[in-house]
Amino acid sequence: MTEAERLARHQRLAEADHRHLWHPFTQMAGWLEEDPLIVDAADGVHLVDTLGRRYLDGVSSLWCNVHGHRVPEIDAAVRAQLDRVAHSTLLGLASTASIECAEELLRHTPPGLTRVFFSDAGATAVEIAIKMAFQHHALTGHPERREFVALTGGYHGDTIGSVSVGGIDLFHRIFKPLLFEVHHAPQPYCFRCPLGKSLPSCAMACAGEVEKVLEVHAGKVAALVVEPLVQGADGMITQPPGYLKRLREACDRHGALLVCDEVATGFGRTGTMFAVEQEGVRPDIMTVAKGITGGYLPLAATVTTEEVFRSFLGPFEEKRTFFHGHTYAGNPLACAAATASMRLFTERDVLAGLPAKAAALARALEPLGDHPNVGEIRQRGLMVGVELVPDRASRAEYGYGLRVGHQVCQEARPLGAILRPLGNVVVLMPPLAMTEAELAELGGIAVEAIRRVTARLAAGGSAAAASGPAPAR
Ligand code: PLP
Repeated sequence: MTEAERLARHQRLAEADHRHLWHPFTQMAGWLEEDPLIVDAADGVHLVDTLGRRYLDGVSSLWCNVHGHRVPEIDAAVRAQLDRVAHSTLLGLASTASIECAEELLRHTPPGLTRVFFSDAGATAVEIAIKMAFQHHALTGHPERREFVALTGGYHGDTIGSVSVGGIDLFHRIFKPLLFEVHHAPQPYCFRCPLGKSLPSCAMACAGEVEKVLEVHAGKVAALVVEPLVQGADGMITQPPGYLKRLREACDRHGALLVCDEVATGFGRTGTMFAVEQEGVRPDIMTVAKGITGGYLPLAATVTTEEVFRSFLGPFEEKRTFFHGHTYAGNPLACAAATASMRLFTERDVLAGLPAKAAALARALEPLGDHPNVGEIRQRGLMVGVELVPDRASRAEYGYGLRVGHQVCQEARPLGAILRPLGNVVVLMPPLAMTEAELAELGGIAVEAIRRVTARLAAGGSAAAASGPAPAR
């Protein structure tokens, strides 16, 4: 293709995008004024656009890519599955690909989790966990256990149930009238502690708040739903060590199920296969999606203990059945990709390489350590958030309308990396397959983009930094 042909193709696609598409989590008025970056291909950890430009995939194509793109083993598994069957249902039928995938998944999940209920997105996995917990109590003689506890700042997907247990005001407030009531306890956000305290003198008072909520509603709580170790979508809010363990113990004391949402943290992202392992916690229900297929195809799973599963068993006429299912649940192509991706963890000993990679990324971001507009760098494994602030001392927030995070990500593109912000937090979530050199390059691009944007803002004066009191997220 000549340059002119390439450009003409890009322009035609851009126009069609602007004419027909409605992008998720996107203010379309702004989108329609911008020339879109159109991904056309990929190569390892790089995305390639319609103009032939290459970018490091700095957020793993929305936190799901693991081994890079076009991985020979996963490609071959999907092609082989295409030669057998692309889709068959799990409603009343079994399938080779879903059986093998469930077996492989349970080789990696914490001991004691034994049953896999497939669906197709993180949100559906959480929706299923909520309904399972609710019905489990009803079936075990505790229909009064119908309430849920979750954290402010939580994100579990965009269906009504998962939004109900979510706690990000910016995303969720508008839908409040549609949601069921959930008791929200303050999140463990040490940089902006909602309780106005600090570690270690606080003795993790935020965990105490969750315990209090469970006490106040004792005997009525079906489950506590949390993201383990890191609340991702609220800006990579990292939990202090011991926090999750305390929540596990509180659930045990109060007979509530613990649902750990590993959709973002699962599959090596925080340094261990699952985040719960770092706290020695076994959830009653665990949700996984995103990285399960290596970032290839939509697949999710709600994984439970035998105890939860067994409560649904009984004679047909007792109607203990879990009446829930999605058409593409356990899709064979997705399952084949997932099995191949999970096997690669063992074959390539992926987890063993992660500490050095996490350290390489941390080193690359070190120049931001004393940057006047960097409030905090939060990192667990290859999950990083850099929180930008107009003033480090006061920890004030940049106004929402400034789109500081967005500006940084736009700046990073010509430098060769795709990033996506969360409000004023610049996120780095690279594929686990990135080499230390590539991680250094990615970190370097983020540092340079942050320097340029914050310098521009500073030159624009304090009016820019003060524009609007809106929260960042
Ligand atoms: N749960 C968590 C912790 C997430 O981070 C996300 C997505 O970012 C979801 C659930 C929703 O996943 P999906 O977008 O696949 O519905």
